[in-house]
Amino acid sequence: MTPQQIIEGIHQGKLRALAKAITLIESQRPEDQQRAAAILEELLPRTGRSLRIGISGVPGAGKSTFIEAFGMYLLQQGKKVAVLAVDPSSQISGGSILGDKTRMELLSRETNAFIRPSPSGDTLGGVARKTRESMLLCEAYGFDVIIVETVGVGQSETAVAAMVDFFLLLQLPNAGDELQGIKKGVMEIADGILINKADGDNRPRAELAGRQIENALHIMKPKSANWQVPVHLVSALKKEGMGTVWQMLETYREAMSETGEFEEKRRRQAVDWMWSTVMESLKYSFHHHPKVAALLPQIQQSVAEGVTTPGMAAKRLLETFKRH
Ligand code: GDP
Repeated sequence: MTPQQIIEGIHQGKLRALAKAITLIESQRPEDQQRAAAILEELLPRTGRSLRIGISGVPGAGKSTFIEAFGMYLLQQGKKVAVLAVDPSSQISGGSILGDKTRMELLSRETNAFIRPSPSGDTLGGVARKTRESMLLCEAYGFDVIIVETVGVGQSETAVAAMVDFFLLLQLPNAGDELQGIKKGVMEIADGILINKADGDNRPRAELAGRQIENALHIMKPKSANWQVPVHLVSALKKEGMGTVWQMLETYREAMSETGEFEEKRRRQAVDWMWSTVMESLKYSFHHHPKVAALLPQIQQSVAEGVTTPGMAAKRLLETFKRH
């Protein structure tokens, strides 16, 4: 398919065209990347209409069960849903959080749902950029809600929070765990928190965990004066609380749109992404510069042995990079 055919296909709502465009975005080949960039540029005016939601939580928190239950709820409301992922571990294992076919089986069979596993790539930055660009393609295609899933470890959460309107954190009903959350700084980036598995015998523990998290949130500085991070109890397994979650997202969108913060956040995110792409690409060019690469082993060694100062070594490398 030519880029023009792909663009037309996306306009006409052909899933095959969307999948093909995402494959180009994920490709490492320079000619594919050029075609992907041309497609994105052309489709950019059609983006921006979806609600972008990030979802995180430690493995076992119930992310895939939740996304399936919530996704099915949204479909019932007449919405179209795309699910993407940022999983840096996919570089190591070759698989990914969404790679397993048994996950979200019901949702994956629905015509108004689209599920795409995490791209694999050499850096988290690369993986995240590809997911962000795929997200824009999904918007141009016409999905109402885009869910970006990530694992509750490392910096992938920050990367996902930087591309979505609302970052949702799934917690287990374990009292005490919330302190860990604060330490990791994850709660600081959350716009809403769900205590999942609030069913059966877990219910009292979930209620306690919810209260503790609410208390912890009260002593934290809010991200916006117009938004108090809500804590809700849900059961993804029993499909309970899905309406409450959607209501929370709608309330957020309304409140933030009224004050202009919604658009402001997107504008800021777009500029931040420009910079992170510049940085990624500079880093790549630096490491792949033949003269720099040739110099590196020797320079690194002299820094390690204390023969050259790190500052002098950096200066020499940068000069080599700039000069050639
Ligand atoms: P993920 O690793 O975060 O994607 O978690 P999964 O969705 O795979 O869920 C991990 C386990 O928790 C599975 O055995 C689920 O059936 C179970 N689980 C998920 N949500 C709930 C829930 O709301 N209640 C209960 N009791 N179990 C759940």
